[in-house]
Amino acid sequence: MVQAILMMLVLGAILGAGLGIAAKVFHVEPDTRVDYISTQLPGYNCGGCGYPGCTGFAEAMVSGDADSWKCKPCKADQKAKIIDYLKNTPGPDGKTITIKG
Ligand code: SF4
Repeated sequence: MVQAILMMLVLGAILGAGLGIAAKVFHVEPDTRVDYISTQLPGYNCGGCGYPGCTGFAEAMVSGDADSWKCKPCKADQKAKIIDYLKNTPGPDGKTITIKG
């Protein structure tokens, strides 16, 4: 019985250490631009842009999947603000994004 408990403790410690190392090695720095852009989009989540909601469109712009503006409900001043933000704010890779209006 004691051996089984010790085996479980050792196994748990080994697996826990493995998960800790994997979390450090495979850590990906999140791109904070997605959150900012999501808050600036209308928030209707209508899907009219062809992406699953406003956050989906924000992720597509930041990832480079969407290189042109596709949100029709967005007001012109908000659109200009988002495009200008992406043009002047580098991501974790140091690159900025140009979206065609
Ligand atoms: S079209 Fe605009 S409001 Fe509709 S989901 Fe896309 S980004 Fe959001």
